[in-house]
Amino acid sequence: MAVSGIPFLEGRYSPTFDLWPIETKEFNRIHTFYDNLREGKFTTTKCRQCGRESYPPRVICPECYSDELEWIELPRKGKVEAVVEKLGGVPICFEPPLIDAWIDLGEESPVRHVLSRVINCPPESLKEDDKVQLVVFDVPSHPIEIRQETIMAERVFFAFEPVK
Ligand SMILES: [Zn+2]
Repeated sequence: MAVSGIPFLEGRYSPTFDLWPIETKEFNRIHTFYDNLREGKFTTTKCRQCGRESYPPRVICPECYSDELEWIELPRKGKVEAVVEKLGGVPICFEPPLIDAWIDLGEESPVRHVLSRVINCPPESLKEDDKVQLVVFDVPSHPIEIRQETIMAERVFFAFEPVK
């Protein structure tokens, strides 16, 4: 992950400036979430013991502490219920405004609401009741050193964007 604008880091990887999760199965117990994103699916976990559906995905059920969880699909479209635009104090490597929305995935969804970043959206344009959809995008690869060899692990992340 090259860091631009910081000369001494140009072309080098800095974990301090890496805001994206390490997604490979060796380092992340919810790696399936990212594998599913790569296939365009928005998923979370459901407890096989008590049926509790949680978002974000868990490795242990917050209700009964079982680790017998299964993956379920969530809708990829929703409706904005509230919007926050951060104009200052955004994390380094992000450009303000950083837009977050509380999104209603609908009555049929196993999990009713998600909080997500909204992209591809001009400032001050997103409003309550606007329809939004999932968008999956590549984020900078992450170097992993294995037996003195460095491989670049590809990564994706998600946000929502206005439905045109
Ligand atoms: Zn449970």
